[in-house]
Amino acid sequence: MNVPLVDLKAQYLSIKPEIDAAIQRVIDNTAFIMGKEVAQFEEAFAEYCGVDYAVGVASGTAALFLALLAHGIGPGDEVITTPFTFFATGEAISQVGAKPVFVDIDPVTYNIDPNRIEAAITPYTKAIMPVHLYGQPADMDAINAIAEKHGLIVIEDAAQAHGSRYNGQRAGSLGHSACFSFYPSKNLGCYGDGGAVVTNDPKLAEKVARLRDHGRVSKYEHEELGYGLRLDGIQAAILSAKLPHLDDWNAGRRDRAARYAELLADLPVTTPEHLPNVEPVYHCYTIRLEEDVDRDQVVSHLKAQGVGVGVHYPIPLHLQPAYRFLELEPGDFPVSEHMANHVLSLPIYAELTDEQQDFVVETLQEALGA
Ligand SMILES: *Cc1c(COP(=O)(O)O)cnc(C)c1O
Repeated sequence: MNVPLVDLKAQYLSIKPEIDAAIQRVIDNTAFIMGKEVAQFEEAFAEYCGVDYAVGVASGTAALFLALLAHGIGPGDEVITTPFTFFATGEAISQVGAKPVFVDIDPVTYNIDPNRIEAAITPYTKAIMPVHLYGQPADMDAINAIAEKHGLIVIEDAAQAHGSRYNGQRAGSLGHSACFSFYPSKNLGCYGDGGAVVTNDPKLAEKVARLRDHGRVSKYEHEELGYGLRLDGIQAAILSAKLPHLDDWNAGRRDRAARYAELLADLPVTTPEHLPNVEPVYHCYTIRLEEDVDRDQVVSHLKAQGVGVGVHYPIPLHLQPAYRFLELEPGDFPVSEHMANHVLSLPIYAELTDEQQDFVVETLQEALGA
C-alpha cells in the first residue's frame, strides 16, 4: 500500500469538473492578473474568515512581508514570534528590516507560550506574530491581553489554520491582521503560489493592496514604491471553487485525527492535544516519539513501507544557519529544540481511507517495535 503524506490528486479528482471549469473561465476571459476573479475570491474569503477585507497576494510569505510593511514595521523594530515554525515567519520579519525575537513554545500545544512573552518585550517591540501551528490557533486571549497592555500590534501567521476557530471565531479574525498561504498543500491551497492578508482595518487593507501592485493608485500613477506581489486570476478562480468545500475537508481531517487518537492510544507516542476553546483543522497530524526512539530509523522504515511522513520542523529558527547573526545557541529555547528532535507528522487529509490509516498505524507500530 502507498499512503502519501499529502494527496492533492485525490482532492482534485473529487471536484475535477469545478476546478477545470474555473481555470477555463479565466482563460476564456484572459483575466490573468488581478481582475474580477481575484476581487470575487477576496470578498468570499473575507466573509469566510469573519472580517471586512481580504487582499490576495503572491504567497504566504508575501502576505507576512506586506502585512508587516503595512503596519509600519521596519529597521530598529522587534517582532516577537515562535522559533518553532516554518522559516518564512522569521524570514518576513527580517525582510522588512526588523528583528525576530523568539519566545519558546508551550509543550502541549506547540504554540508560542504566552507566559513567556512579557519577558521578551523591550522598548523596541512593535508586534507579536503568533503562528497557529499545525492548524491550532495560539492562545489569543492571553496574547491579545499582553499586546493591549503594551500597545503592540498582533499579526496572525494563519498559514496553517484556514477555518480553525478560537472561542468560536475564525483564525484570521483574532488579531489586527492575519496572513494566509494558499501553497498547494495548505488546508486551502491553489495550484501554484498564493496568499492573502485579512483585516478589519480599511486603511491597512488599502495599504497592502497598494504595496502588492507597485504602489499603484491608478493605471499609471504610483503613490509609493511597492512590489510585484499580486495574486493571479487562475489561482483565485481555483480558490473560489475550493472554498465552499473547505469546512467539509477540515471536518474530514478532524474525523481522521480522532480516529488516529484511538488507534495510537496504546502506542508509546504523544498524540496532539488542543485547548478546550479551540477547533483545530489539523494541517498536520504531528505526534511526538519517546526520547530514546531513533526518529531517523522510524522515518526510514515508514518511507520504505510506502508511508509518507514529515518532520515539522527539524531545525528551530534560532538554530538555522541563516540566523547565525542573531548569535543564539542550542539551549536558548529548550522546549522548541526538544520538539524539533522528536516530532513526526503522519498523513492526514479528508480522503485518507480507514485502510490507509490502519496501514500507517500498523507500520508505525512495527517501526517502534511496540
Ligand atoms: C506555508 C507557511 C508560510 C509561507 O507560505 P508560502 O505560501 O509558502 O510562502 C508561512 N508561515 C507558515 C507557518 C507556513 O506554514
